[in-house]
Amino acid sequence: MSNCEICKKIEQKAAKVVYEDDKVFACLTAKPASLGHILVMPKEHFSIIEMVPDPLFEHLFKVVNKISIAVFEALHAQGTNIIIQNGVAAGQDVPHFLVHIIPRMQNDNLSFKWAPKQLNEEEMSTVEMMLKDQTSTIGMREEKKKPVEVEQKEDETISGEDNYLLKQLKRLP
Ligand SMILES: [Zn+2]
Repeated sequence: MSNCEICKKIEQKAAKVVYEDDKVFACLTAKPASLGHILVMPKEHFSIIEMVPDPLFEHLFKVVNKISIAVFEALHAQGTNIIIQNGVAAGQDVPHFLVHIIPRMQNDNLSFKWAPKQLNEEEMSTVEMMLKDQTSTIGMREEKKKPVEVEQKEDETISGEDNYLLKQLKRLP
């Protein structure tokens, strides 16, 4: 994407680069939560996590793990938070998928904790069923490209793939 600020940053190497290969780029962020806060991203432009092809995702996460190890070794971190802000609602503020590695120390006053919600058994069971309905097709994704019912005016038809893209667009930052 030509107007993506992250793509430009990668192309111009306009950052403190800590790792790079032909597919993955990792640099220090200009807006760190802690010293050594790193962003790891595919060089190719993908807006959200579900757009990233599996082999690239696998490679990217191997790199994330190795960089996390480097953070322990080089910076003597006592922990790392590995975070993906997937979608605007989740705090994603750039339209380019990336992974945060945040070095942590005991008592560093950073907090990613939340107060647990009190949900009743019915709410938990309902959400479990709704999710299982979707997750039952994991690993069979290719077979799922059949027409899907969507709300639409008149008698327009829409293919499963188009519908998938429509659903995806709603999640784009
Ligand atoms: Zn981009």
